[in-house]
Amino acid sequence: MTHDTHAPPAPIDLPGAGDWLGWVAARCEGQLDEARRRVEQVKAASGAADVLSAWNAAETAIGNAGSVALWAEVHPDAAVRDRADELGQEVQKYVTELGLDRDLYAVFADLAATPGAESLDADARRVLDHTLRDFRRTGVDRDEATRERLRELSERSVLLSQDFGRHIRDDVRSVRLAPERLAGLPDDYRAAHAADDDGLVTITTDYPDLVPFMTFGADGAARRDLSLAANNVAWPVNDQVLQDLFAVRRETATLLGHDSWPDYDTEVKMIGSGRAVADFIDRISDAALERAGRELAVLLERKRQDEPDADTVETYDSRYYSELVRREQYDVDGQVVRTYFPFEQVRQGLLDVTGRLFGLEWTPVPHAEAGTWHDDVASYDVGLDGVRIGRIHLDLHPREGKFKHAAQFDMVTGIAGQQLPEGVLVCNFSRGLMEHDEVVTLFHEFGHLVHHVLGGQGEWARFSGVATEWDFVEAPSQMLEEWAWDAGVLATFARNEAGETIPADLVAAMRRADHFGKGTHAAQQMAYAARSYYFHAGPHDDLTAYGDELQRRYSVFPPLEGAHMHCAFGHLDGYSSGYYTYMWSLVIAKDLFSAFDEADLFAPEVAHAYRDKVLAMGGRRDAADLVEDFLGRPYSFDAWAAWLAE
Ligand SMILES: [Zn+2]
Repeated sequence: MTHDTHAPPAPIDLPGAGDWLGWVAARCEGQLDEARRRVEQVKAASGAADVLSAWNAAETAIGNAGSVALWAEVHPDAAVRDRADELGQEVQKYVTELGLDRDLYAVFADLAATPGAESLDADARRVLDHTLRDFRRTGVDRDEATRERLRELSERSVLLSQDFGRHIRDDVRSVRLAPERLAGLPDDYRAAHAADDDGLVTITTDYPDLVPFMTFGADGAARRDLSLAANNVAWPVNDQVLQDLFAVRRETATLLGHDSWPDYDTEVKMIGSGRAVADFIDRISDAALERAGRELAVLLERKRQDEPDADTVETYDSRYYSELVRREQYDVDGQVVRTYFPFEQVRQGLLDVTGRLFGLEWTPVPHAEAGTWHDDVASYDVGLDGVRIGRIHLDLHPREGKFKHAAQFDMVTGIAGQQLPEGVLVCNFSRGLMEHDEVVTLFHEFGHLVHHVLGGQGEWARFSGVATEWDFVEAPSQMLEEWAWDAGVLATFARNEAGETIPADLVAAMRRADHFGKGTHAAQQMAYAARSYYFHAGPHDDLTAYGDELQRRYSVFPPLEGAHMHCAFGHLDGYSSGYYTYMWSLVIAKDLFSAFDEADLFAPEVAHAYRDKVLAMGGRRDAADLVEDFLGRPYSFDAWAAWLAE
C-alpha cells in the first residue's frame, strides 16, 4: 500500500445540489464503522505507540461522525435535519458505549501502569491521562448496575438535549402591530416590514426582527409584547424538558460520586469547582454593583422624560434607553452608525483584518466547487505561508428551521497530514445594514473559527482546534471583539453609501458610549449565570419563580411578568451550569489584550506570538499554562477590573 503522508489533505466533498440525505447518512455511518474498526485495533494493539495511534484514528472518526450535528442545525431540508438528529443519537449512543467499555478501559489502564508509559512524549502522555480521566468521568470503573443506569441516563440526556434545541429552533413567534407602533425604527426596517391586508405589521422573534425593535422601537408596550413573545419561545414545552434534563444530570453526578452537577462539570474546567462558580458570580456581581446602580439611575431618569411616573426600568427598556442615552449624552446615533456597515463590506473587512493580524490568506471557493447546503453560504480556503491549512464556510443569514443564535460548528477536525480542518459560522445577521453590535458578534464568532483552524494543525484529535477547557473557549473570541472597536481597524472597511469612511471621532464616541451599560450588563450576565448554576446545583419545583428570584437578586432590571426565559435559554443545554464562562473568559480576554499595543493592534510580533502560543496549541496544554506562556505571568483580574472602572 502506498501512502503519501506529505500530500496536503483536501477538503471533504460536499454534495452540493446532490443527494444530501444519502450523503449525510453515508458520511456519518461510514465514520462510525471506521471508529469501530479502529477501536478493535486499539484492543488488539501492543505497545503504547500503537495503542495511542489507533485510538487517535478512532477519535478522529468519532469526531467526523459527530459533526453530523451541524446538519441538524443548518440544512434547509427538514428531512435532512431530522435524519441528522437520529444519526446524532447513534453517535452519542456509541460514545456512551465506548465510555463504559471495560475492555477498552483496561487497555489504557494497563498502559499507564507499564514502565514504557514514561517514555511517551508530553502530548502522548496527555492523551493517555485525558483518556483515563474521560473513562472515569463516564463511570467505567463503577459496578454493573451503576454502569447500566449511567448508560440509560446518557441516552436520555441526548434525547432531551435534542428536544430542547428543536423546540427553540421550530418556535418562531411574532406580534402583529399597527404600522405606527414601529415609531423610532430605521426606514429600511420599516420598508421591510410593510402592513398586510389587515393593515398590520408582523414582527417575529428572529434576531434581525427582534434586535432592532428592542433597540430603536419607541413604543414601550410593543417592546414589552415582543419581548414577552421572545421570552416565551418553547414555553411551556421546554419547562418539563429542562426539569428532566436537570434531574438526569443530578443523578449522573451523584452516581459518579460528586455532590452536584456543577462539581462534576467543573472538574475539567479552569474554575475547578462548583463552589468557585458561585463565588465568581458573587465576586463579579459585587464588583459591578455600584456602577450598575449609577447606570440604572441614568436610565430611569431618561425613561421618566417619557413616563414621568415610571419607577423601574424593565428588561425590555434596557436596550432602548441605553441606546437613547448613548445618542443624547454620548452623541452616538446607532442609526447613523449602521450606515457604515453594509453586510458584504463588513464580511470582506473582517477577512482582511483577521488575515493581516494572523498572517492568513482567505481565498474564495466558488459555490459550485464548495458544494455547500445553501446559496447564502460563502466558503474560503485558509492559507498560511502559501499552504492551505483549512476551509471555512460562513452561513450568516436566518432562514426557516435554521439555528437561531450565533455559533461556530466543527465540520472537520484538523489532523496534520490527514484531514483539513473545516469550520462553519452559523449566524443570523441582517442582509443589508448591520448594527455595530452585529459586527462585534461577527468578529467574536470568527475568533472561534480561527481557533478551530489554527489549532487544527497537530497530530492528536484529542487536542485539535477549540479543544481547550470550556471556560477558556470564549476568551480568544472576546479578545478579537476589540478589533471591531478600533478606529484604525474600522476605517479599513466601514464606509457608507456615499463612500465616506466612518469618522474617527464617531468611533471614539462609540467607545465612550460603550462604557455606559457595562455595570448593568455585568449584573444581567450574572443573573443568567446564576440561573445556569443554581438550576443545576439543586432541584427547584418552579423554574420560572426561582429564575425570577435570581433575576431580582443579581440584575438591576426586574423579572418580566409572564415570561419564561429559561425555556429558550439555549445555553442551559450546551453550557449546562457553566454560563459564567462568558464572564470568566472576558476576565482572561482583557488580560490577553493587555499584551497588545493599542496604538498598533496589528504589530506582528505580539499577534504571531498569540497565534502560536495560544490558538495554535489547541488543547495541548492547560489554558492557564498557555496564557502564562503568552503573557509571561499567570492570568489575573487586574485588566478586567481596570476596564470595568474606566
Ligand atoms: Zn463565543
